[in-house]
Amino acid sequence: MSQFRVGIGNDIHLLVEGRRLILGGVEIPYERGLLGHSDGDSLTHAITDALLGAAALGDIGSHFSDLDTRWAGADSLVFLRHVRGLLEDLRFEIANIDATILAERPKMAPHVAEMKTRLAGAMGIDQSQINIKAKTNEGLDAIGCGEAIGAQAVALIVVQTNGL
Ligand code: MG
Repeated sequence: MSQFRVGIGNDIHLLVEGRRLILGGVEIPYERGLLGHSDGDSLTHAITDALLGAAALGDIGSHFSDLDTRWAGADSLVFLRHVRGLLEDLRFEIANIDATILAERPKMAPHVAEMKTRLAGAMGIDQSQINIKAKTNEGLDAIGCGEAIGAQAVALIVVQTNGL
């Protein structure tokens, strides 16, 4: 007997000069990067929040405070690996992740395969269990003006119960 649980994640970071652009754990060559206490990886943050939401474990800020110097400049895949451990402790298994990057520039398609490899590795799942899409914001709002990159994610997790 299984119980399915779904979670949603949403994140956005400002694009600024003098920062590396990291999305899905992959460094993407670009003239600007995402501003944040950690590496600013909005895709990884959205997925982390979706998993926490599915497990009713709060949000990324409550687990990894931006006031905590341990997370300054942190590789956000560390957050994802930590949440994977929390889920395992609660006997949750990840069924699948679906995510969308919202970015006007640069092109994400050349980097999606590597993002999937890194994210799946951090979560301990197969690449067939994660989908990453990318779209522009049609020139609208901060994302469309190239001032920020956002991401959305949903996660489905399954709780394994005893009593077959
Ligand atoms: Mg964030």
